[in-house]
Amino acid sequence: MEEKTIISFANVAAAYDNATEVLTDVSFNISSGTFYFLSGASGAGKTTLLRLIYMLHKPLRGQIKLFGKNTAELSRDDIANMHHKMAIVFQEYSLLSHMTVFDNVALPLRVRGIEEAKVKKLVAKVLDWVGLGKYADVKPMELSGGQQQRVSVARAIIIQPSILLADEPTGNLDDENASRLMELFIQMNKLFGTTIILATHNKKLMETYKFPIINVENHRLNFVGKASTTTDSKKVWRGPAPKNYFSELSKQFEDIGNA
Ligand code: ADP
Repeated sequence: MEEKTIISFANVAAAYDNATEVLTDVSFNISSGTFYFLSGASGAGKTTLLRLIYMLHKPLRGQIKLFGKNTAELSRDDIANMHHKMAIVFQEYSLLSHMTVFDNVALPLRVRGIEEAKVKKLVAKVLDWVGLGKYADVKPMELSGGQQQRVSVARAIIIQPSILLADEPTGNLDDENASRLMELFIQMNKLFGTTIILATHNKKLMETYKFPIINVENHRLNFVGKASTTTDSKKVWRGPAPKNYFSELSKQFEDIGNA
């Protein structure tokens, strides 16, 4: 499959309030469809890197390109359009407590003005995918931590993002729930071609799944291991869909794309 750079940093520096630089002279390219762990000590700058990629924080120097476009030159509309292709999952599940699980997951579609009949179908499918089909009508607080985190993954995947940034998503989960969550991320990466950067402290997770690691240390990044584009163009939803749950889900994403 043709490798395409989706995230590119050239000599990027980042700081808060013009204080010490958190990141200095950071340059790298990330290809579409790859999966990286992001590691480093607490306070090293992992969240800052994710915030730069999501355009929540502006670089002090240097150039960041997303989808081939220089982020410094984007209009507000361009940024909004790019955010439609990106999702973030946090350690805290960040769900809206007054809304049901269904409404939390439906939110990104409703914001985009997708018609309600499609919203209903797609949310039901995605909740089944994360194993929470039975919990559509409950409030997040009634669920366990692992279940709440799967709701936030459902909310992230419902827009079929090209890029998923995950900031310590397994930080509050036990091993079993952490593995379950990893399997969902891996399916997203393999079957939808989502580029994933997952920040974690969890050495066991990194040893088990062996994705390449971006290590943040001394204000710089080291890349450990080689990235592979794990997606097969024949398997992602745009191609001939695999005959399983994903083919149906993919079809609905396509319908939304054409809406
Ligand atoms: P990590 O995610 O690796 O724990 P962060 O990116 O959160 O690291 O933080 C990197 C450094 O930037 C830390 O020294 C932290 O104190 C500082 N920092 C993070 N957010 C802010 C902020 N909003 N204002 C000032 N300093 C910050």
